[in-house]
Amino acid sequence: MQLLDGKLVSESILAEIAEEVSARKKAGKKTPHLAAILVGGDPASQTYVASKVKTCEQIGFASTLVRLEADTSEDELLNQIRFFNTNDDIDGILVQLPLPKHISEEKVINTINPEKDVDGFHPISLGRMVLGQPTFISATPNGIMMMLAHYNIDTAGKNCVVIGRSNIVGTPMSILLSRNTNPGNCTVTLAHSKTKNLKELCLQADIIVAAIGRPNYVTADMVKEGAIIVDVGINRIDDASKKSGFRLVGDVDFANVAEKCSYITPVPGGVGKMTICALMKNTLLAVKDR
Ligand code: NDP
Repeated sequence: MQLLDGKLVSESILAEIAEEVSARKKAGKKTPHLAAILVGGDPASQTYVASKVKTCEQIGFASTLVRLEADTSEDELLNQIRFFNTNDDIDGILVQLPLPKHISEEKVINTINPEKDVDGFHPISLGRMVLGQPTFISATPNGIMMMLAHYNIDTAGKNCVVIGRSNIVGTPMSILLSRNTNPGNCTVTLAHSKTKNLKELCLQADIIVAAIGRPNYVTADMVKEGAIIVDVGINRIDDASKKSGFRLVGDVDFANVAEKCSYITPVPGGVGKMTICALMKNTLLAVKDR
């Protein structure tokens, strides 16, 4: 079994981006600038936004973080987005999801200027992705594609089961893997909570991408010998031995599945790292003077 090491791969890609940023600065070009908006105090969201901002600093990007109270009105949030949309210094905008219940995620996503949509959630970005046109591809699926490319994994003709059909992970992942690209060219099955024979489907799979949000859901008896396992899940489970009182686990029962598969992503240190890396790549792409 080989570990698909998101930390290692993302560090090497981030180092390349940092070099490009430094060359841009020397040439008097614009510094890439990412604006993040966090609404409310969800602990996981705070951690994600903090690591995105920290990564910006590490690679020489400018960053702006706007923290809004949980009871911020939808209009206030939309106005903040509109401000960033028209501010020429801001290249990329991200609004950390999930949002409080009284705010429509759809409205928020639709309000982001597609030219600054570095999360790739806007309908224009998703539409372009489906058509294979250049665009911002959602960070998590894009990060997974970058990881597969880094390890030179031959995915062509492979049977792939993607578990989970969210707009931000499962659905775009299934499309990217089925496209005529490298990596890609898989025969993809997109499974979800209404799928009846998940275990049988998984046992046929050369590649399993788990994006469910249920700790240790994919167990060794569901996995074919030699399969490639991509674990997107980030779940907090109680752990009294940790200072925080919890630890992070994926959607895959790592210890037992690792013994059977050819490649596997760890949690943490796998897909999460690649997600941030892909977001930074998108932000660099968003800079106008390229
Ligand atoms: P969602 O809750 O939006 O989607 C979960 C999907 O899993 C749904 O499509 C749901 O089906 C499906 N599902 C739920 N239960 C089952 C089941 N028993 N069998 C099969 N399918 C099931 O989650 P996200 O896509 O946003 O996130 C998934 C996981 O990935 C979470 O743990 C999240 O924290 C993590 N994540 C990690 C990221 C990273 O950077 N590593 C980035 C984004 C998310 P249905 O549609 O029928 O309800």
